[in-house]
Amino acid sequence: RLPEFKQALPVLDTLIEGGYEAYFVGGSVRDALLGLDLNDVDIATSAQPEEVKALFKKTVDVGIDHGTVMVLQGGTSYEITTFRTESTYQDHRRPDSVHFVRSLEEDLKRRDFTINALALDRNGAVTDLFDGIQDLEDGLIRAVGQAEERFNEDALRMMRAVRFAGQLGFEIAQDTKAAIKKHRQLLEEIAVERIQVEWVKLLTGQDRQKGVKAMIETKLYDYCPLLSNKKAALTYLVANPHSLDSDRQAWALLLYYVRYIQPKGYQEDINTFLRTWKTSKAMVDQTEILVEGLEDRKNGKSLDPYAIYQQGLDLSLDIETLLEVLGQEGKQAEVKETYQKLAIHSSSDLDLTGYDLMEAYGRKPGPWLGSALNQAEKAVVRGDWPNDKDQLLQHLKDYAIEDEKQD
Ligand code: ATP
Ligand code: MG
Repeated sequence: RLPEFKQALPVLDTLIEGGYEAYFVGGSVRDALLGLDLNDVDIATSAQPEEVKALFKKTVDVGIDHGTVMVLQGGTSYEITTFRTESTYQDHRRPDSVHFVRSLEEDLKRRDFTINALALDRNGAVTDLFDGIQDLEDGLIRAVGQAEERFNEDALRMMRAVRFAGQLGFEIAQDTKAAIKKHRQLLEEIAVERIQVEWVKLLTGQDRQKGVKAMIETKLYDYCPLLSNKKAALTYLVANPHSLDSDRQAWALLLYYVRYIQPKGYQEDINTFLRTWKTSKAMVDQTEILVEGLEDRKNGKSLDPYAIYQQGLDLSLDIETLLEVLGQEGKQAEVKETYQKLAIHSSSDLDLTGYDLMEAYGRKPGPWLGSALNQAEKAVVRGDWPNDKDQLLQHLKDYAIEDEKQD
């Protein structure tokens, strides 16, 4: 019995002692049976949300309309969801209303794939209505019930299918795959943010090759933002066996391949691409640094202290990791050493300010300030000039002379 479940047993037992049914469900049961690390332990119960709240001291309403209450116990939070069915699917998206039901069977029926429709009771007995355990053994992702119907109800499930292929290294069952191929266009109805979540999980999955291959085979990529004309780049992703350990590395490798096969001067704009995928601003900034840094290194540019300074240590190391993913030698140790030896690590470490410059040269503020400071920063980082105010002012004295000429 896994510690995560053991720790959560008191939560199940409280529900059971309250007179309700309660089970572990969803990804945690699937992952436990596969011997993988667990994310969060989800619980399903016959108790309605208000009934759940009455049984526990600390609860948070995280999705009460959908029947989900978060319970805080022993420093961990658990999502407890009332058995439910979903109905009135509009526009092939999430249902706008859910019906609470008292039977586990009904709840398991509305789940997406057989491997996600397993329930584990407090004694370790598994409820497996759709041969999910067999599919786990066979490594198959199979829709619960009629695949076409299920994707019609909620088109995100098609993205989830390929995502699980990439995470678990599973094949998608024949009928399920055929249904994705047939209904792929329904993905247009799904919010980009939700597609993005699954896409990133696929790209960072242990078996990305399988996931992307399934995307290509089903042509699901046709309806993902900006991917419809990127089959060649995706094919590179399939050919590359290295797995990636962060979201930004995943975006960077994808964009590297996308740009790699495009003619110079007509390459995908990283900012536009990621904005369309609705990633965060921070993700855009970091990915830009990674892709541009990687392109430079791939084109033979050697390690440059100023580039490492600007990128920061973490992103500079990521660039070397990505070089290795592309089959080249990464120079992580050298990057670390270079970074540690930098005279300054940010512009605030510079022993010179704009005020120093204005005072020393008797000049008004203007564009000259920025360029003088920038010149000092670069020279100090490269080790050409010492980080010393007086010496920096001496090196920059041309800026003083120039102003006198203008006056
Ligand atoms: P992860 O390990 O990434 O959390 P998960 O399977 O737990 O994977 P969740 O999104 O946390 O995925 O969903 C929990 C469970 O809810 C799933 O295992 C599945 O049973 C059900 N589920 C989630 N999304 C859908 C959906 N779109 N349609 C049907 N059932 C779903
Ligand atoms: Mg989950």
